[in-house]
Amino acid sequence: MSEILLQQTQAARVAERFDAFRRAFPTPAAMAGAPLDKVLALWSGLGYYRRAGMLHACAKAIVARHGGHVPEQPKALLALPGVGRYTAGAVASIVFGQPEPIVDGNVARVFLRIHGIERSPDEPSVQKWSWDRAAALAHAAGDQIQGYSEGVMELGATVCTPTAPNCDACPCSAFCTARQLGLTDRIPRPKTRPERKPLAMSAIVVFDRRGRVLLEQRPEKGLWAGLWQPPTLERHGVRPPAIGATMRELDLDGLVEVIGKPARLEMATTHRTIIARVSSARAVNAGAVLKRRSGHATNLCWVSPDEMEGFGLGSAQRRMLELIV
Ligand code: SF4
Repeated sequence: MSEILLQQTQAARVAERFDAFRRAFPTPAAMAGAPLDKVLALWSGLGYYRRAGMLHACAKAIVARHGGHVPEQPKALLALPGVGRYTAGAVASIVFGQPEPIVDGNVARVFLRIHGIERSPDEPSVQKWSWDRAAALAHAAGDQIQGYSEGVMELGATVCTPTAPNCDACPCSAFCTARQLGLTDRIPRPKTRPERKPLAMSAIVVFDRRGRVLLEQRPEKGLWAGLWQPPTLERHGVRPPAIGATMRELDLDGLVEVIGKPARLEMATTHRTIIARVSSARAVNAGAVLKRRSGHATNLCWVSPDEMEGFGLGSAQRRMLELIV
């Protein structure tokens, strides 16, 4: 569970949530028996929400294929949903003491510096070289594999850091080419980041008479799969749809009255720049709103502000709601 949580999320942020995850899901069977919504609600705000679905599917597969026990063999680990080469290597080597290689961004940086290679770790040939190197070292580590795997990752995370590595405290300094040649600030070369795509959104936060807000669940596939949101219209580009078009396309014409001025939100995720207009509205007839919107979203309900914690919201949707509620 921790390895999947840690994929693409900083350890400090995962640490804040890990106890809650452990309490809610002490075993794979506990997660497999829970609805996906419960996993999504705990995941809320951690980003890369596909992983929540993968983790849930992984728990189910562990129960179905392995009687609820995490398998030890790398091949069986790799066959689980959400488990790639890194996660399989981490679990096999650190948990089960198998001489399996492990490469993450920290490990790749240590390797590139020690060997003095001025390349980017995301180049395919460098990735292959890093994994070959890691396999040779894991084999050499033998029964010391747990210490080696933890050690090399920790070295990258705490000593051989991206900027200002602490070479004086490093156990590898005597044989590190980057240090000897003064190349630590040139190795590794920066990763090439994909350009962010703009996404324009127009959301309507609809209140009923009791101050509850209409939330709808997004489809199970695609962007922010399975997460909850206020009714929202999305467009490629930087201009959120106008309120008239939003009301029409969300099928809310005549059922809600817009109140106040819209709020604006701009934020960046790893892959997108989001520009959102967030309007608030009062339902003229809450029952009719629910009926009309049920033709567009499979799951939807009126939620009081106190109950929102129990719903899986993406960080963009959470921030949109915070602007209004
Ligand atoms: S000597 Fe410096 S650059 Fe080389 S591995 Fe150690 S911390 Fe990294």
